[in-house]
Formats: sequence, C-alpha cells, structure tokens
Amino acid sequence: LSPEAEDVLDEIDEQDVDFLRLQFSDILGTPKNVSIPAEQAEKAFEEGIYFDGSSINGFVRIQESDMRLEPDPSTFAVLPWRNSEKVTSARLICDVIDTSTGEPFPGDPRRVLKNAVQRAHDMGYTVNAGPEPEFFLFEEDENGSATTTTHDSGGYFDLAPKDLAQDVRGDIIYGLQEMDFEVEASHHEVAEGQHEIDFKYDDALTTADNIVTFRSVVRAIAAEHDLHATFMPKPIPRINGSGMHTHLSLFTEGGDNAFHDEDDEFNLSDTAKQFLAGVLEHAPALAAVTNPTVNSYKRLVPGYEAPVYVAWSDVNRSALIRKPAARVPAASRIEARFPDPSCNPYLALAALIHAGLDGIENDLDCPDPVRENIYEFDEEKREEYGIETLPSNLGEAVDALENDEVIMGALGEHVSEKFVEAKSQEFEEYLVEVSEWEIDRYLEKF
Ligand code: GLU
Ligand code: MG
Ligand code: MG
Repeated sequence: LSPEAEDVLDEIDEQDVDFLRLQFSDILGTPKNVSIPAEQAEKAFEEGIYFDGSSINGFVRIQESDMRLEPDPSTFAVLPWRNSEKVTSARLICDVIDTSTGEPFPGDPRRVLKNAVQRAHDMGYTVNAGPEPEFFLFEEDENGSATTTTHDSGGYFDLAPKDLAQDVRGDIIYGLQEMDFEVEASHHEVAEGQHEIDFKYDDALTTADNIVTFRSVVRAIAAEHDLHATFMPKPIPRINGSGMHTHLSLFTEGGDNAFHDEDDEFNLSDTAKQFLAGVLEHAPALAAVTNPTVNSYKRLVPGYEAPVYVAWSDVNRSALIRKPAARVPAASRIEARFPDPSCNPYLALAALIHAGLDGIENDLDCPDPVRENIYEFDEEKREEYGIETLPSNLGEAVDALENDEVIMGALGEHVSEKFVEAKSQEFEEYLVEVSEWEIDRYLEKF
C-alpha cells in the first residue's frame, strides 16, 4: 500500500469510521457511490472495487461493462452527518478503470479533468480554480417534497432576523469545515431564499471534487432542517438565478502567478489575456458544458446579474468574464461568470482549461474590456463593439459544441459523444412539452 493509503487506514481506525462511500460521477455530474464496510478499506486500496458500468449514465454499452474503482487516498474525508444509528461514514473519491484494458476509463469525468490538468502541466502550469456556488433554500411540503416557496424574505447581505437561514447556513458551514473545507465567505444572495458559500480555491481537480461534495453536504444539511437546497440555475422566473462564478489562474512550477503582471493596467499578464481570449473564443461551445440544462438558459438573460454577452470587463458584472480587484499578486485571476451549479464540475473545468490553454497556444488577441453596462446596449452598439451573444437555449449550445473541435476534444471522444447525445435528447424532450406559460397565455385567448 502507498503511504497515503496507510494514513487513511490509520484515520479510519482513529475516527471509528464504519463505512466508506466510494464515489465517482457520471457524465451529467451526478455522484454515484458504492458503500463498503470500513474493514474492506485495505482490500479496496489493493485491488479496487468492481462494479457494473452499464447502469451508469453515459458510461458503457452493456457488453463491455466491467469497471473498477480505484480510491484516491488524498480525498479521504469523514462525512459530517450520521444517520439515526450513529453510523460514521467517510468518502473516498475514485478513479474509474476499464477492466478490459486496465487503463483509466475515458468516460470518467474525473479522468477528463485530469487530462486537462496534464495539458497545463506539460505547458508548465498548475491550474487553480475557486468557485462561488449559489443555491436556493425552499420549504418542503407535508410529504417532504420540494416546493418553490422560499424559506425567508432576506436580500443581499441581509442580517438576521430577516435572514432566517442563518442557522442553516451556519450548520452547513460547520459541516464543510469538519470536512476540511476552508470556507471564505457566506452571505445571503440578492434573491429571497438565495445563498452563497465560497470556499478557498485549490488546484482544479481538488476543486471539482470539492464542488461535488459541497453540493451533497448542502443538500443533506438543509434536509436536516426540513428544507430543500437546490442548485437548479433558475428556479423562480423574474428574479436572480443561481450561478457558479469560477475564478481561474495559472501558477508556474516555481509557485508564481502566471496571470499577474505588475505593469499592466489590469495587472493581467499576456498569458492571462490569451487564456481569457481563449475562453471568450470558445464561449458558445463552453456554455453547453458549463450551462448544461434547459433551465440554465432561463438564467442567462439580461437584467439578473448573469452574463449574456461575450465580453470581459474589469468593472461591470454584465460581462461573461470579470477581472476582480486583487490585493496581492497571487490573487490576480479571471472570474468566469457564466457557469452555473447544475454543471458537471469536472467537465466544466476541463472545458474551461482547454479553451484557455488553446488561447495561449494560439497566441489569441484579447479584446478590450467593456466598461459600460452591456445589458443596455442595443444590437447596433453590440455590433460596433463586436460583442457576440451566448447561445439562447440548450439546443443552440449543443450545436455550438458539436462545431467546436477544441471543446469536443477537451471532453474526449467517449464523453463528447455521450454528452451531445444526452443533451440533444434533453432539449428535444423539452421542445415537445407545453408549458404553464402557454396554457395561461393561449388557452382562453384562442
Ligand atoms: N446570481 C447571479 C448569477 O446568476 C450572480 C450574483 C453575483 O454577482 O454574485 O450569476
Ligand atoms: Mg454571488
Ligand atoms: Mg462573483
């Protein structure tokens, strides 16, 4: 066993862990887990755990379905809640191995991100990523099902007593801290019932693992308060939706921030600007991955602090990418404002990284920042500034993805094919539905 795995075995003993949840994600980012008694840990590290991949969304065809999970010891964390029998569980995030080849399975989203991180390493960089996930807390009905009745009527940075959710948020934060999350800030967001909890940036892989864990911790602890936490991007029309702004920077092997330039007006290096240009260039295709649901596009409309136009800015929040003010060189970074928390974080980060690295490799020109509120631009002005628009629905985004070799390549053959298939089907199903809005508008009129 590796020394890291030995350490995990010690931890399991010390913390009296009863069960291990071996986790991985399907293509849509849904966490899957196989639970094993803690006594099996050693065996799991030595031999891996076998499972049938044919029942996992987007994994494999039936005839070639044997997969093996290899737990990554660096991801060991005790889960902060116990069930009624006071059973202690810990999570281990796993890599998926295809047993027919003995190689990492190309349909494993974590592998897709590892490939992106590797490309950055080959170019001399470590990728740092920090997310700002937003979510709503809703009441449950008498059957315990989620409603869209908000839990409070607070607003941006409101304090108690209006912010009834402070206790829930507190419990969520304690839970995250128990799992070694470094929570940096939490606040009530603009909309009623809407919250944000930010945790410290880390290397891209750790951050993706953290996002998956974050979403389940938030949901589980909200449920303990009889509330439903949702990361659906736009649960309520005509108020702000939930984004997951993603801060990105590249560090050199020597530990310097390759995005920082003291002498630049925005403190952004040429490398940062090329990376930024790459993200802008591939934005329409990226959207399919970072904003992967029908509902994602209800958020990306003018007027709700979510981006619509493909531009960057150092001051305003209507742009796709913002350059946040940074007090120290290490903090120079770009903030992608379009991703939402319904994405598969492994695929979203992989796609963003490849788009940016592509910008560096091709020495792309970065446009000037736009300092005005782009929501207020008319079409003519947008044309004058050369500002494009994000796809307006999932169907357009999937088309853009299919036509973008860089982002298709970022996902790899297996995942891109399954992803396009799943998302095209999702959009087609949506198109044949008749919505409440249509009934209200037309039923009695015609
Ligand atoms: N909720 C907004 C969004 O959909 C973002 C608000 C903020 O700037 O934090 O992206
Ligand atoms: Mg926010
Ligand atoms: Mg932000």
